[in-house]
Amino acid sequence: MRAQYDVILVGGGPSGTTCARELAARGASVLLVDKKSPGWHKPCGGGIPEVLFEPYGIPGALGFSTPKVRVRDAVQRLLTIPMRYRTVYRNRFDEHLAEAARAAGAEVLFDTMLLDVERDADGFTVRTSKGAARAKFLVGADGCMSTVRRKLFPEQLPESMCGIAVEHWYRTRHGITSLDFYVEPDLLGTGYAYVFPKDPELLVVGIAGIAVDKPRAVLEQLLARPRYRALVGDLPVAAVHGARIPYRHLSRLRDGRLILIGDAAGLNTPIIFAGIPIALHSGRIAGEAIAEALQTGFDAPLDRYSLASLRASSLGFQLCHAFYDELLKHRRPPSFATLARPLWRRPLSLPTAFVIHRALSRLVDRLDVERMAAVFGVAAAP
Ligand SMILES: Cc1cc2nc3c(=O)[nH]c(=O)nc-3n(C[C@H](O)[C@H](O)[C@H](O)COP(=O)(O)OP(=O)(O)OC[C@H]3O[C@@H](n4cnc5c(N)ncnc54)[C@H](O)[C@@H]3O)c2cc1C
Repeated sequence: MRAQYDVILVGGGPSGTTCARELAARGASVLLVDKKSPGWHKPCGGGIPEVLFEPYGIPGALGFSTPKVRVRDAVQRLLTIPMRYRTVYRNRFDEHLAEAARAAGAEVLFDTMLLDVERDADGFTVRTSKGAARAKFLVGADGCMSTVRRKLFPEQLPESMCGIAVEHWYRTRHGITSLDFYVEPDLLGTGYAYVFPKDPELLVVGIAGIAVDKPRAVLEQLLARPRYRALVGDLPVAAVHGARIPYRHLSRLRDGRLILIGDAAGLNTPIIFAGIPIALHSGRIAGEAIAEALQTGFDAPLDRYSLASLRASSLGFQLCHAFYDELLKHRRPPSFATLARPLWRRPLSLPTAFVIHRALSRLVDRLDVERMAAVFGVAAAP
């Protein structure tokens, strides 16, 4: 650890490592610290749209391919959506991104906990379990319960905007090759259950939702239901993971040269809680903006990292938040169940709903690909 850097980032998840890589590749001196030890799993289902792998230089082999999403309601009606995802083990995924940041020239320190941070007229002093350093810019990429945000940022995420997700891992030859979501309004209220394969022999069963008080007890109740028993029966639980997920982003993403990205800024997708794409995306845009501010000596380029620029370049993020705002306006519970239920309401028959939904999904998928291709300067897949 040196005494002075251009930028210090706290948090080595997808947002922090992506931002560090962007900055180092553009010549900035960068320190990234993370309290986790190599091999640690960030609690996460790890489902990522396949379209993101190439633009972020993530090898496809890191993920297990799931070419469709299936959504089931309480009476087993089923929607199948042809969206290609890959599920990753977060330890391998985060390690790959950290290596890419190192290869670009960033100094990446694991087992290094942020203890305190102060701000003065010239920048920031960051104290960690491995020593102190100063920087002109500070990036908080330290997740939903961000210490950087709590210590320095003028706005906080209210407790009600932090959801909970908890999951069990099972070792079993499951034969599942889709991301499966289950709407269980009686038990999960505003949340949903999910069953994700991590590889042919590891299955994740989890729940995500803001109104769940005792998530582990609720997950046990869920697992007693026949359709989950049919999947995992009395198999021993190989691991239990759980963590908070932000439901709503802050009203602004930076305060001068203090910048928040990913979950630390509350950047996630309400209703579906898929935070990795927007974590990668916010890390990239913030990295580009800070690098330009360093190169020009002016802070004006930092304005390019804003909610408006994230909305303009990520259709998925835009759609989820627009839908969420609409729900809030009508004071209806913002939930996956609310989103899914109208699809099955009469007079729509299931086959009709399926056809409409599939057509819309294809359209949305295509638009996302085209937008991303334009943003990242890559060719859209045929
Ligand atoms: C159970 C569960 C399932 C999920 N499933 C999915 C999914 O399938 N798909 C999806 O897209 N999203 C999913 N998410 C959400 C996703 O995990 C997050 O949105 C994403 O990880 C956010 O990335 P990030 O880089 O902003 O923060 P994080 O990945 O949370 O990284 C923050 C980093 O900061 C470090 N840190 C925190 N405090 C300190 C400190 N004081 N000092 C040093 N380091 C610190 C942590 O060790 C961590 O590595 C899930 C979340 C949960 C909880």
